Amino acid sequence: MADSRRVRNTALGIFSALLLILAPSAATAADGETAPARDPKQAIDEPYTAKIQKYTTAPYFNSPLVNYLPSSNTVPTPEAVLGDIAGAPGVLPYAEDVYKYMRMLEKASPRVKVFSIGTTEEGREMIAVAVSSPENLKNLEENRARLVKLADPRTIKLDDSEADKLVGQAVPVYYITGTIHSPETGAPTALMELAYRLTVDESPYIQEIRDGMITLITPVVEVDGRDRMVDIYRWHLAHPKDFYPPLIYWGKYVAHDNNRDAMGVTLKLTENVLNTYVGWKAQVLHDLHESVPYLYDNTVGDGPYNAWVDPILTDEWQMIGARNVADMTKFGMPGVFTHGDFDTWSPGYLMFIAAMHNGISRLYETFGNGGADTQERTLDPEEYSRTWFRQNPPLPKTLWSQRDNNNYEQTGLLTSLHYFNENKRLFLKNFYLKAKRSVMKPAAEGPAAYVLPADEPRPGLQAELLRVLQKQAVEISRAKSAFTVSLPVKKEKPKKDTKDTKEADKEKKPEPTTRDFPAGSYIIRMDQPYARIADALLDHQYWSPDDPQKTPYDDTGWTFGELFGVQVARVTDLKVLDMAMERVVNVHAPGGVKGDGAVFAINNNAEPALATLRYKMKDAAMEAAEEQFDSSGKKFTRGSLVIRKVSRADLDRAASDLGLQVVALGTAPSVKTHPVRAARVAFVHTWLSTQTEGWWRLALDDLKIPYDYISTQTIAKIDDLNAKYDVILFPPVGYSPGPTAIINGMTTAWGNPLPWKNTPETPNLVGKNDSTDDMRPGLGWDGLAKLQTFVQKGGVLLTATDTSRFATEIGLVTGVSAHASEHMKIVGSVLGTRLVDGASPIAYGYEEKVAAYCDNGPIFSLSSIAGARGRRRLGNESHTRATGRGTADDPDFTVGRPATEAPEELTSEIWEAPPVTDEQRRNGFRVIPPANRARVIFRYADKKDLLISGLVEGGDEIAQRPAVVDVPAGKGHVVLFSINPVYRGETRGTYSMVLNTILNFDSLDAGRKLAEK
Ligand SMILES: [Zn+2]
Repeated sequence: MADSRRVRNTALGIFSALLLILAPSAATAADGETAPARDPKQAIDEPYTAKIQKYTTAPYFNSPLVNYLPSSNTVPTPEAVLGDIAGAPGVLPYAEDVYKYMRMLEKASPRVKVFSIGTTEEGREMIAVAVSSPENLKNLEENRARLVKLADPRTIKLDDSEADKLVGQAVPVYYITGTIHSPETGAPTALMELAYRLTVDESPYIQEIRDGMITLITPVVEVDGRDRMVDIYRWHLAHPKDFYPPLIYWGKYVAHDNNRDAMGVTLKLTENVLNTYVGWKAQVLHDLHESVPYLYDNTVGDGPYNAWVDPILTDEWQMIGARNVADMTKFGMPGVFTHGDFDTWSPGYLMFIAAMHNGISRLYETFGNGGADTQERTLDPEEYSRTWFRQNPPLPKTLWSQRDNNNYEQTGLLTSLHYFNENKRLFLKNFYLKAKRSVMKPAAEGPAAYVLPADEPRPGLQAELLRVLQKQAVEISRAKSAFTVSLPVKKEKPKKDTKDTKEADKEKKPEPTTRDFPAGSYIIRMDQPYARIADALLDHQYWSPDDPQKTPYDDTGWTFGELFGVQVARVTDLKVLDMAMERVVNVHAPGGVKGDGAVFAINNNAEPALATLRYKMKDAAMEAAEEQFDSSGKKFTRGSLVIRKVSRADLDRAASDLGLQVVALGTAPSVKTHPVRAARVAFVHTWLSTQTEGWWRLALDDLKIPYDYISTQTIAKIDDLNAKYDVILFPPVGYSPGPTAIINGMTTAWGNPLPWKNTPETPNLVGKNDSTDDMRPGLGWDGLAKLQTFVQKGGVLLTATDTSRFATEIGLVTGVSAHASEHMKIVGSVLGTRLVDGASPIAYGYEEKVAAYCDNGPIFSLSSIAGARGRRRLGNESHTRATGRGTADDPDFTVGRPATEAPEELTSEIWEAPPVTDEQRRNGFRVIPPANRARVIFRYADKKDLLISGLVEGGDEIAQRPAVVDVPAGKGHVVLFSINPVYRGETRGTYSMVLNTILNFDSLDAGRKLAEK
């Protein structure tokens, strides 16, 4: 192997020497464009260039743009920090090394400026590096002022000729972001070298980029995860013969999903990149990933395209993508393609910040080895096959290096930057036009506005939704007085059965034609530059089951008003824009204590802040009303809090902070109550994946709900779980593990322990999360027994999606089974659920209809017979009569014997357990006593009401099935969720189902009605 490589490198040396001789001195090619070639007058850094050749595993994995490094007497190369060249085997820099280098560049050259753009959850810095001509960098503010006008055409009164002037003068900003996905490790070194080239190279091709535009670079997006990944790689180098631990934590909270946060903006990295993108008024956001050989420009992608982006943008995707592939194909680089199977539907990806803010979103998948080892890589047939969109596919098998990856990344970026610069007037004009078309949206396409009414019963959640929009740079206004808008007339589709339709029409009430909104209602005007993101978040999504795209890349629905559980009205009546209104800078739900008296009450509308208050005021006596009541002229719902033994001033302060409205009562209400205690919570994670539970941790931390964060391994080690905890949360693993994977973990039958702890090689690994000497063992059978004992002795275990399946399949509950779907396809959709048992404390504050996030179940079935697997019932199974005499309603008739009356058939609803029959009760030791049976709190809506947003195919499998079930087990409870109530910061309307379970842990049976038999 080594020999053949040396031969190849020698051949490559001759090849590049030839190139240097043949390089044209005049840079203009016959087509009038500047040729991608080095400036023969500029010296090259010979040793660095030799190493580029050495570490590139085949000549065609390089291009004339990056197969040399120009030399400089004043500016240091990446070698100054790395000790080797960018992309060298065995070299993976920490973020602070990357920053150190970028700041060396800044010090050495007036062509570089480094900006701090914020910090991560763990306090690490994020930066953006601007590279451009000294003149451009000196005039940043003047240039920004021009871009601001193009970004907000209202400032120039939508005057196209004024815009043309600005387009002629403005310098565009192209923003590149690297390594958001921590195991995708190549971008930082590629971007270090790219910054060097843009700073130093005097070839006309690079000079034009430098003088014509501003390249802005965030070399490390997920800084916390980068440092962990470099730790793991160092551990691997120190233990070359061992297996190395997989990167179980990336950022503090989530892993791969950090690239799904561009809707909710709950992570610091999203917020920092968004603020940088919007603050600079950049035209492009180009995010670098590594999972596809060798360069997949997924910008153009596949359908369905996001329905809210401007078609001008989708044309830009085609232009840029096609040109990018063409340029690199002409260099002879194999495996460069666009289109592919990435659909462009969800706006949750980081790059989509640009698509939703009138820019251009771009994303590269290049090929990485997850570290800096040079390795033989073998591809799957679907990766190397030649397809219509990949005429020059990658090789089935090849030796691949980090340098190869860096060559592809840099070549792709340089050709993109150059093409963008050549066409910058077009793209700047498009940038203006997309903003202008946003401003003109109300009249051109609608809607005119979204309105969030002032009489919203959940003002706290409403404020949270508005704050998400403000993070997205959306302007929010408030109506100064009450107003009325007219509603669009909904056209009914003609029904096939005309007779029934006519009869139904007679009973139909006339649809309202207007809607009133009180003064103080929030108005999100659609005639603003960033209307697009508000529209995309607040609108409904429909993914057709007939769509040719059969494998949605991510969630298909996300409607924020539904998932936050607050009212959002889509208003098409243009009059709404003429109402007197004022801009709102700080959205805050009103709160505090009103009235006189020493007993306080807070109405319960399922606002998560109630749980925050419980934990914040540890010493206050709080109770929940088990029925609704009236007091001091106000109505209080079931579950409303009654608070005593608290200083009014303290309560007032806390309630003001949290946006909770407290009423002081003259006398305590006579309603039945139970205590609401600050439960001691354990939060359990596996060592298989922490991806999905991370969103739960983030939500609890934001709400300041304390918990102990423990792994499945820890459970077996705790002698008495009940002595330490009241509630154990076991959120989704998100790894699709079977029950045995949770118990067994990873195999320990061979290999070495996989430590997740801080060592000399891994100083950053643990951060503020958990640690272990060996990630491989799971919960174990001892741990399972401990969990069971915890529940039997009175503890509450809460599970969701895959951990609910675990609890049912491993036998922690009786009378509930969970099925995987057979034909159903619900891919991250918003579904309707219905309240079944409003007396359960889990349901406190909820109304009859609740929207929830569902990703294909599981599908629960209930049974009142222990050990029986609940039947998969679809629809009504009550039997019809046999063929015989009489009409359909008549009983059957037997010749020669008097008629006998059959006992009435017992029926039940889909979400209920089938009734126990007399036959089953004979010696009925398997019949679950009524008090031990599962209690359904929420169920999925009927089939026709199931879909709120996204894709529902074969929904009858889950329609009407239980969505949230409280199962008594011994003295305790297991609460099973089929929905995921806490997800990506988007599902805040269902958070309280979890919080209610926590706060009412020792009174979950309140209001329970038992079956008679
Ligand atoms: Zn990625």
